[in-house]
Amino acid sequence: TSFESTGLPERLAEALRRRGIERPFPIQARTLPDTLAGRDVLGRAQTGSGKTLAFGLPMLTRLVGADATRRPGTPRGLVLVPTRELAQQVADVLLPLARRIGVELTTVYGGASMRRQVLALRDGVDIVVATPGRLLDLIEQGECTLAQVDVSVLDEADYMADLGFLPAVTRLLDMTAEGGQRMLFSATLDRGVARLVARYLKDPAFHAV
Ligand code: AMP
Repeated sequence: TSFESTGLPERLAEALRRRGIERPFPIQARTLPDTLAGRDVLGRAQTGSGKTLAFGLPMLTRLVGADATRRPGTPRGLVLVPTRELAQQVADVLLPLARRIGVELTTVYGGASMRRQVLALRDGVDIVVATPGRLLDLIEQGECTLAQVDVSVLDEADYMADLGFLPAVTRLLDMTAEGGQRMLFSATLDRGVARLVARYLKDPAFHAV
């Protein structure tokens, strides 16, 4: 398989090729036909499997050419992750691709100064990669709204549950647009993850690698 045969736009396939990424990993080959068609997906995959592109490519595809609509603090794509390190890893993979297609991506996480994050949000964003607590703080301060989010990702949902983040995650997902696309990745479905799936994913395609 090639990325094009999964339905990925040529602009993104070309951006991947420039970074030496020619062929989809299994999790990507399996999920892309569903996610590019707008379906909700429940994925079971470990770090290193390529899950960041599995959820990042359909998100970027939705936002190609988003420049004209970008407004301060008003992302259309949201990626929730449990830790700052994971937020940075996700950004490392997606930022170079986002830049090439004119999509603005920023990270928001605790344990770092709010100032850079606030300024980046005010500059206008398309995708926010965030840990839940800091994102809630920024929303409460009026620096961000999730009302325009129409594609959201919950990464490492089971680890989020372990860290006690599910109440915050629930509050955040409740703020996203009705009827948007959602993708959830988790190694297991226990510890409250099954409840999240039932509440937030509609008729999800399930994929495991
Ligand atoms: P992840 O599992 O998302 O953390 O990805 C692990 C690493 O694999 C990242 O550095 C990605 O850039 C890289 N990667 C993801 N998909 C592919 C692919 N199809 N071909 C080559 N490298 C990839």
